[in-house]
Amino acid sequence: MYYTSHIEIKKSALRNNLDFIRDYVGPGIKISSVVKGNAYGHGLTEFIPLAEECGVDHFSVFSAWEALEALKVTDSSTIMIMGFLDNAELEWALENDIEFYVFSLRRLERVAELAARMKKKSRLHIDIETGMNRTGFKESDLDEVKKIILENREWIDLRGLCTHYSGAESVANHVRVRNQYENYIRIYRDFVKSSIRPEYRHTASSAAAVCYPETRMDMIRVGILQYGFWPSMETYIYYLTHNEVKTNPLKRVLCWKSRVMDIKSVKRGEFIGYNTSFLAPNDMRIATIPVGYSDGYSRSLSNHGRVLINGCRASVIGLVSMNMLIADISEVPRTRRGDEVVLIGTQKNRTISINAFSNFTTHDINYELLVRLSPHIPRFVRA
Ligand SMILES: *Cc1c(COP(=O)(O)O)cnc(C)c1O
Repeated sequence: MYYTSHIEIKKSALRNNLDFIRDYVGPGIKISSVVKGNAYGHGLTEFIPLAEECGVDHFSVFSAWEALEALKVTDSSTIMIMGFLDNAELEWALENDIEFYVFSLRRLERVAELAARMKKKSRLHIDIETGMNRTGFKESDLDEVKKIILENREWIDLRGLCTHYSGAESVANHVRVRNQYENYIRIYRDFVKSSIRPEYRHTASSAAAVCYPETRMDMIRVGILQYGFWPSMETYIYYLTHNEVKTNPLKRVLCWKSRVMDIKSVKRGEFIGYNTSFLAPNDMRIATIPVGYSDGYSRSLSNHGRVLINGCRASVIGLVSMNMLIADISEVPRTRRGDEVVLIGTQKNRTISINAFSNFTTHDINYELLVRLSPHIPRFVRA
């Protein structure tokens, strides 16, 4: 084994999560699997075929680069770019039937021209600004948008009318999200009045799909939930209080494992690792593990993280180095070099969940830690 750690992605867990989501949102709602950020660290090229086997045929990415990667592993599914696409790649996108968000008039005109020249219909999603103030057409541009669409019907296949909420995972944003929803509905009706009917109305990410049923519409863009994580504690509590079943229906898809590289004893009063951040309070036994911040094990987990060795929790002590971390195994019995170490996931009956690392202060912690998992770590698919 040349690698120092590996990631396992579990098909049965993914199937469980997708089945739960389908069941929860009800029939007739399409699921677009959001696979930006290297499929939230799970590995884009490994994840897509797995999701296809679980019945998914629509994938959302952020950039043309990610769409290019996705094309390598699928030829039947729809790929939708929600973010960055350069003019230079437009022709490629049309040729490959890539769907993409449009949020500027200049782009819309250019696509219509190019599609006419190529005699190839473009597959667009009109992204509208409803209150997030990130991307999306301003309302004052929409008359022009409609005009261009109507004049170029032959070359524009309007696949969707979409928007994104400014934080459906927290009730603190309730009023803002409700306003966005109202704005969306009003704009959608205006499109229909102008005889423009998008194929899919889609606005919801995971949190909105769970907490705001009316936002599900024709399609939901599901990221974090399919990987087995709640977008936030609030979303999970919302789910629990609105449902009969009081257990977590989601299963983690990803498990990150390494091995014990070396073991040694340290005397009480010695510093361990770089600098002076950890002072041994007793005589200790420590294990070095060949995983560090270059792999995506955050330096902020220095003196905070936990790992599993022989079914026991062990604390990360001292500073996380670029390629190594140190765990306190004083209380872990019978540890040997080569023993399995679980950095994220389950070993025997214990689990290290990503958010165990933090106290849930920001909802981003799951997202950020997952996405930072280095693409160089090999991903293996398990049944
Ligand atoms: C990332 C993203 C999603 C998915 O968000 P989750 O919270 O992971 O479900 C949906 N829509 C857009 C536009 C996104 O950028």
